[in-house]
Amino acid sequence: MTYTGPMERIEALRPDMQAWRRDLHAHPEIAYQEERTSGLVAEKLRAWGLDVHTGIGKTGVVGTLKGRHPGERAIGLRADMDALPLQETNTFEHRSQNEGRMHACGHDGHTAMLLGAAKAMAEAPEFAGTVHFIFQPAEEGEAGARAMIEDGLFQRFPVESVWGLHNWPGQDVGTFDVRPGPIMAATDTFRITLTGHGGHGAMPHLGTDVVTAAASLVSAAQTIVSRTINPIDSAVVSVTMIHGGEAFNAIPSTVTLGGTARSLSPQVRDTIEQRLGEMAHHIAAAHGVSAEYHYQRRYPPTVNAPDETALAVEVMRSIVGEANVNPDGQPTMGGEDFAFMLQEKPGCYVRLGAGPGQAGCMLHNTGYDFNDDILTLGATYWVRLVQRLLGPDAPPA
Ligand SMILES: [Zn+2]
Ligand SMILES: [Zn+2]
Repeated sequence: MTYTGPMERIEALRPDMQAWRRDLHAHPEIAYQEERTSGLVAEKLRAWGLDVHTGIGKTGVVGTLKGRHPGERAIGLRADMDALPLQETNTFEHRSQNEGRMHACGHDGHTAMLLGAAKAMAEAPEFAGTVHFIFQPAEEGEAGARAMIEDGLFQRFPVESVWGLHNWPGQDVGTFDVRPGPIMAATDTFRITLTGHGGHGAMPHLGTDVVTAAASLVSAAQTIVSRTINPIDSAVVSVTMIHGGEAFNAIPSTVTLGGTARSLSPQVRDTIEQRLGEMAHHIAAAHGVSAEYHYQRRYPPTVNAPDETALAVEVMRSIVGEANVNPDGQPTMGGEDFAFMLQEKPGCYVRLGAGPGQAGCMLHNTGYDFNDDILTLGATYWVRLVQRLLGPDAPPA
């Protein structure tokens, strides 16, 4: 590891951050139920002298820290707090104490790193302006970022830019990865219900068959990406559920298909939504059955602003050196609700390497655990980012 070393204050907080992180890991809470977690966050921020606001987007918390020097500029740093509805399989001491709940995405670590940064900056607020520490609920599928925005996040706490990070197993410890433009995908869901006249499995000619229609539709859906999307663009259409039928000898009268669609641009997203609907209706018609089509746009793509990304790259290089920052990372087709914040404000979402991810230690795996070795790196990134944006040598906005 070649990074030049985080600031002493952050280094001294390492044992604290690890203790907070493991305590959060042992007490995971899922979307909008983060009562204990947000309570702990608020209590600590208050103890360190921040101005704390709770109940934003149900369980969201914002801690506001003013710099020692006067300044009009303000930025937002964001961490997510929620866990997943999974049963942890780890057996170490800090394993989940909550049945069917698990920090399998490292949001315990994200929360601990941002807390560490808040404490370090509260002890030495050597900047001009305001930092809002945003702790959001419900990142995992329930749009906690949007809930906070709808609850007036950026009216109550105006910021010029907003910043996020995620730990990334499979990427070396001591490295950062980012890219300008889309870095995570739009994550949509669809449900198609085919309805016909079921009947005897031996007399298909007396009814209509939703099963063969469903089979055609599943295959045809795969041609949306291969035949209608520009090969240079990225997209995924996955049918992940097929429900229908109860008896060996009876053709059912309904089959329901469900799945997910991923895309990195609005045009591709529109095309998938439209084509899948056309296919559902026309393939159903070809089989003499009817289709009901529901397409739900969930998270938008997570799009990094070019200027903020260039600045993040500069900050990351100052911590781990040029060789350990990839400014041209690949987007992934996973989703991230920080996307909603980036729709409102320019900013940047970076990936912090968490190590090889051996023995199932991958995101959303029941054997995952956040790598405590990166707590100081993440916290250092936050502190350096504030110094770069609001510190004495910061260029004018
Ligand atoms: Zn996750
Ligand atoms: Zn996550």
